[in-house]
Amino acid sequence: MLKPEQVRRYFDLPQPVLTAYLNTNPAKPANRKPEPRFLTWLKAEAKTISRTLPLEEQKVFQQQLERVETFLRDRAVRGSGLVIFAGPKAWEVLAIEGEIGDEARWGGPYVAPFLRLMGEHKPHEVVILDRKGARFLRYQMGEVTEVAARPFDVNTSSWRKKDMGKVAAAPVRSRRGAAGVVKKTRGSQRATFDRRMDARYARLCAETAHQATQLAARENLHTVFIAGAGQMLAEVANGFSRDSARHVVKIEKDLGRVSTRELARHLAPAIARWERLHEAEVVESLLGNGRKTVIGMDETLAQLQQGRIRRLVLAGNMDAKLRRCLRCGLADRAADAICRRCGGEREIVAVGEAALELAWKQNTEIEIVSGEAGERLEGAEGIGGWLRQPAEARIAG
Ligand SMILES: [Zn+2]
Repeated sequence: MLKPEQVRRYFDLPQPVLTAYLNTNPAKPANRKPEPRFLTWLKAEAKTISRTLPLEEQKVFQQQLERVETFLRDRAVRGSGLVIFAGPKAWEVLAIEGEIGDEARWGGPYVAPFLRLMGEHKPHEVVILDRKGARFLRYQMGEVTEVAARPFDVNTSSWRKKDMGKVAAAPVRSRRGAAGVVKKTRGSQRATFDRRMDARYARLCAETAHQATQLAARENLHTVFIAGAGQMLAEVANGFSRDSARHVVKIEKDLGRVSTRELARHLAPAIARWERLHEAEVVESLLGNGRKTVIGMDETLAQLQQGRIRRLVLAGNMDAKLRRCLRCGLADRAADAICRRCGGEREIVAVGEAALELAWKQNTEIEIVSGEAGERLEGAEGIGGWLRQPAEARIAG
């Protein structure tokens, strides 16, 4: 699971470190060979990196490379991706589900691919509803973890004795509002029972919505998907307060009996479909929003460097480059090799990487769009964002 706390920790690792992102997906035959493909790739890439380093640093680099190689050889690598940070004073390994590209760097911890993954795969909340209760789950990159559960207590034995006299068998709860034809005493008992049952379920649904809201806020989950059926699904969905900025999406599916392990398979298509729609909406809204937004590379980067962007939107396949000052970080598309602000040396860096790192440092929300939404954003050079309100800009600046 990708969490912002992890990125913060990686960002602060003591330099220098060798950062390696490796696609270890065992579904690829080349990754199952005695010398797996990702290891061959890393060795070749390391040669390229090593050539650019001063002699005394090459030794430190080689030590860390050997450490990583040994780790990769000694251990059956599970999962489809692996991120390693290795330095004289650092060692971090993280397994990642989902496709990642191979990348390696030496120097400061390289977290941009990580930020990109987080921008692409926002964690969501899923609530699985049935008459027995609600399960609360975290969903990210096809992985599901159960966070909490709330069994619905609908024990009615005390009602019958106290208030309702004898009811022969536990009555089947009728649909809400449809109490049916009331016949004689037995019928009116049934109606009373149904009303109380409805009230009980209404309260449980409201409590479920409340708990889901709190969990989403606490864990910073992007969208709440509620899977269930009928009246309960509608009631829980309606229980979310309207001013909550979070999206609430209904999935009409009774998954109450599906185990947590199996859930991802059932949920992934619906969540992926919603994400595509959401990305398209984000881009349309960005391109049509005028005053509160910026689009295009120069303007967006300028605003971003002044801490004025609240939410950054980036096309996933963007590969443009720019120059960034190694000393003060000033980045733009000018071809100057020397920084006009501080005179520092400027390195060539991908726009996406520079933008992601700036956004991360400023607590800017990052949204990566792909597919059709990404193509649409390319009309605006693949980058744009929403500006902070004036008060927010002051806090950030
Ligand atoms: Zn500079």
